[in-house]
Amino acid sequence: MDTDADPVAPSDASSATSPPDNGQAPESTTPEPDRAGPAVVNTRRSGAEERASPPGDTLARLVRAVLPWPSRPHSPYEKLVRVHRSIHPKANLPLLHHAHHVAHKMHDGQVRRSGEPYISHPIAVARILAELGMDTTTLVAALLHDTVEDTTCTLEALRKDFGDSVAHLVDGVTKLDGVFFGASAEAETIRKLIIAAGEDVRVIVIKLADRLHNMRTLRFKSRPSQVRKAQATRDVLVPLADRLGIHVFKRELEDLVLATLDPEAYECIDRHVNAQPSRAGYLRTVMGELACELRAARVHATVTDRPRHYWSIYSDMQSSPSRQPHDMPRIVIRVAGDMTDCYAALGAVHGLYRPAPGRFKDFIATPKFNLYQSLHTTVIGPDNEPLEVLVRTEEMHHTAEYGVVAQYRGRDLSEPHEKAASSRTELDWLRRLLDWQRETSDSSEFLASLHSDLSSGQIQIFTSGGDQIMLPTGATPVDLAYAISTPTGDRLIGAYVNGRLATVTAMLDDGDVVEIISASGNDYPGPSREWLSAVRTPQAQRQINQWYDGRDADSGDGESGALTSKIQAGRLAVSMALRRRGRALAGDAPLINLARKLGYPDAEALFVAITETRLRAEEIAEQLIASVDRTAPDSADRA
Ligand code: MN
Repeated sequence: MDTDADPVAPSDASSATSPPDNGQAPESTTPEPDRAGPAVVNTRRSGAEERASPPGDTLARLVRAVLPWPSRPHSPYEKLVRVHRSIHPKANLPLLHHAHHVAHKMHDGQVRRSGEPYISHPIAVARILAELGMDTTTLVAALLHDTVEDTTCTLEALRKDFGDSVAHLVDGVTKLDGVFFGASAEAETIRKLIIAAGEDVRVIVIKLADRLHNMRTLRFKSRPSQVRKAQATRDVLVPLADRLGIHVFKRELEDLVLATLDPEAYECIDRHVNAQPSRAGYLRTVMGELACELRAARVHATVTDRPRHYWSIYSDMQSSPSRQPHDMPRIVIRVAGDMTDCYAALGAVHGLYRPAPGRFKDFIATPKFNLYQSLHTTVIGPDNEPLEVLVRTEEMHHTAEYGVVAQYRGRDLSEPHEKAASSRTELDWLRRLLDWQRETSDSSEFLASLHSDLSSGQIQIFTSGGDQIMLPTGATPVDLAYAISTPTGDRLIGAYVNGRLATVTAMLDDGDVVEIISASGNDYPGPSREWLSAVRTPQAQRQINQWYDGRDADSGDGESGALTSKIQAGRLAVSMALRRRGRALAGDAPLINLARKLGYPDAEALFVAITETRLRAEEIAEQLIASVDRTAPDSADRA
């Protein structure tokens, strides 16, 4: 259980308090005067404050201003309901109330390390998700997310009460038992999360909100565990937020990680940012001039200041020779029209201030892998001070902030739509992860591959057939071929990159158009061992190794070769059977115990028995799970 939290962190700056987006008059936003210290972390622009509001929001706000609100909500739960209703007016509130009731009852008597009742944590997590605009199903699952892990509540009970979707979401974020999985529990828990996300990406969104609240309240934990949590957040959850394009989460998580892992640097940046008294005046001047220029060009737009978050300043600091923080003023122009207005606005900006050469990037024509779109430019503003300007439509702004979850905001999605969500391009990497996790029975290998996949950037490659494939930075035509299919990889003999013949181990660049040349017929050389040192994707590495394993096994001596392959086949059958149940084979200890119980000397003998069909893999999987899972309490214990 996470006993490390305190009350809901101050996030009252919900959508209700953000300035109205009337989409025309440029607002002269001054930077907020004080930025909080490390304990609370830079909240000036995180989360709800910068949210673009769809037209419905503005209407709701108008209605609210006219009608007297019945009564001010007091409890954190009432506030959660209010936020949710303001974005989803037709929300199924009885269901939410029921989830709250069950969670309240199950966590009754549990206390967080802050001394607060435990229920404050799931409510805070649901509140974060409500502010993000997530649907009722997600909030219900968020309220219940720790019940299976930390209380006597069972998954089956949740399924009966709340249905399959909620049960699936709660199961996806439930940690695997350390008693069974031992040292690999953490890796297996992440693998389980990824598998569950393959079916419903909201699992990761809930996990991110859960971690965000735990990070906001990290100060109640011991120093070593603060550091562990912050590192795990940096290595896995921040990259996941980035892949899903949820920048409101990414920014705050990164700043919380920085405040925990390098408090001195955090304070240094904080001092630097706050020691620029002239900044506010400069920004006011620039925003005023830009607004005039845009009006003259007949572009309706909102001009706002968009300070960088501390982590972003920090990473530039790391690579700068002076190691001093530098924070270039930054402006975002949100045009009310479509993308042609973005280019018109850009023209106005460049007409007013001279652009710095080589700094213009067009992420509208070429969106980033997570669908981020904007025009980026750096110009020389008044007093020769450089200024960064981002130009985007309201819709692009919305996607930039919320990424994959933008589709849930203010919409009631039925099941078919939810399924459709995971077929979107931005989830390519997720499908890739799912593909190779299926082939990896070793959880530490899985986690290592996940880390390397998440830590590398992404490039977008176009195949000659016009398909787009996301690959990690530094990927080669070999990676591309194996990403297309295993036979394509095995038969690869050459590649055209942007129309020129290239070696198959050459590094590809973002946006390259690649044509794979495959050998035809039955006589082809197959992959070269040298490719192993060049490839960047785990699946290419695996497939090449498997090609050679297959050959070595063929040429091995008959008797022992046959036995080895029987053991391998049995092991594979068991891990596939476990995988079908959303579980995984981590260590061999439970297997050895089960083998002995069934009268076999060791796990190998058990695997051979499975291959020779004396035992069924499905039954072995069931028995393994039964031998380690907590016994389900009587359903009468439940709410
Ligand atoms: Mn939790």
